[in-house]
Amino acid sequence: MNKTMTVVAATGNMHKLKEIREIFSGWHILSEREAGFSGEVEETGATFVENALIKARAVCRATGFAALADDSGLCVDALGGAPGILSARYSGGGDAENRALLLKNMAGVQSRGAHFACAVALVFPGGRELTAEGASFGEILHEERGTGGFGYDSLFYSADLKKSFAEATEEEKNAVSHRGRALAALEKLC
Ligand code: IMP
Repeated sequence: MNKTMTVVAATGNMHKLKEIREIFSGWHILSEREAGFSGEVEETGATFVENALIKARAVCRATGFAALADDSGLCVDALGGAPGILSARYSGGGDAENRALLLKNMAGVQSRGAHFACAVALVFPGGRELTAEGASFGEILHEERGTGGFGYDSLFYSADLKKSFAEATEEEKNAVSHRGRALAALEKLC
């Protein structure tokens, strides 16, 4: 890909924008706001990849720039992969309510394996579409550990880091995270 390619990061999340800019440092990465996009995109897909493609296509169509989107979530083995693509909407409340519901649903469960999954999609105005996925494995803790991060970070014990994602620095987490791995895999395809 042309190093000076302009790409819109189809996310309103500043942490994700920063991570995308770090990995794709050779490209000109615009935020949605910088690209003039202010719409909401409904995630109606059945998989992480479908949802990432839905977002990237919508932002590419609306702005005329190539668009990079991601979709991610926590998949818990003992819960049949839940909350999965519904991670953000698991409890109907915010992050704290989602974590409380997860702990409740995992009460008394011995087998606590889980992984974060992320799909990324890069869609070009000419119709070319690239997708990649990444995962990060670990276990669901019995209680929250650490104060950093967001979402389910304080309940996720990372097998790579040997501590919870909420106890890790941003650099430590990015090096092993599902999103970091998906973005690195996408970068190899470009
Ligand atoms: P989305 O990809 O922004 O739609 O995120 C989906 C949801 O999955 C978030 O709201 C979080 O609850 C959860 N999630 C995704 N990635 C992470 C992570 O790195 N740490 C903690 N929670 C995450």
